[in-house]
Amino acid sequence: MKRMWRSSEKMSRVNIKRQNEHKNTGQHISKTHKNPNINSSPESDANIHFERVGFRYGREGEILSDVSFSLPPGSMTFIIGPSGAGKSTLLKLIYLHMRQSRGHITLFGRDTSQIERKEIPALKRRMGIVLQDFRLIDHLNVYENVALPLRVARSKREDYREDVLGLLKWVGLGSRAHALPPTLSGGEKQRAAIARAVITKPDILIADEPTGNVDADMGRRLIRLFSELNRLGTTTIIATHNTALIPEDANMLSIEHGQVKGNINGEQIG
Ligand code: ADP
Repeated sequence: MKRMWRSSEKMSRVNIKRQNEHKNTGQHISKTHKNPNINSSPESDANIHFERVGFRYGREGEILSDVSFSLPPGSMTFIIGPSGAGKSTLLKLIYLHMRQSRGHITLFGRDTSQIERKEIPALKRRMGIVLQDFRLIDHLNVYENVALPLRVARSKREDYREDVLGLLKWVGLGSRAHALPPTLSGGEKQRAAIARAVITKPDILIADEPTGNVDADMGRRLIRLFSELNRLGTTTIIATHNTALIPEDANMLSIEHGQVKGNINGEQIG
């Protein structure tokens, strides 16, 4: 497999440390423009902790009930469960789209119930989020969509251009860089959305069914991309019903009837 992004001498201290820790595995993800504005907090606060969390939509019964677990910084976890079990709901609580009905969630060292609305955009910039409906901007081409988080973070075009093109190539969109989203297939949109989520090497990556629209081969490739990002230190959470793609030794949380069970770094949950 070719090097996914170009390498560069311009590495932050954190990134050099990360590279040294993961010398043998992370060569496909360069750390060239890890913008301090995006990712300035210590790695150790990229943990996610749920304590007796309950969630209900309106007056319905609880979708999640007394859910407790801890995802350590740098861990990679798959969330599994049948359709309608609450996987997307759990992710939405993590990426601050909704608040829990009861219990406590800690994110980036903060109790989410104490986070003010105006603080949310800055915290969200530390997370890469891949949603089922992709949320690509239709009037921007694929390259511009993927580069958008870097532009928002005021990175310089000349610093990231090669990286964006390299990543697009790696996810099989090299020839589609100038295409507008409405002209892409479902699988192409999915890969563009994933590239956009990982281009900043976020502290936390959240992906909701990220392999739903691609064939098995591309699915494995995308999971490998997530693994590489994870090896560089990104806390990674992937909801999927496609258990065939999950590595054998992976952390897994399974949701059923509002309860979460599983295994995180050898610790039994639920
Ligand atoms: P999964 O991702 O595992 O398929 P979801 O989290 O999307 O499950 O949904 C869990 C349950 O919550 C389902 O019964 C679904 O119908 C319900 N649900 C999801 N979103 C809403 C909503 N906005 N309002 C009311 N019920 C919802």
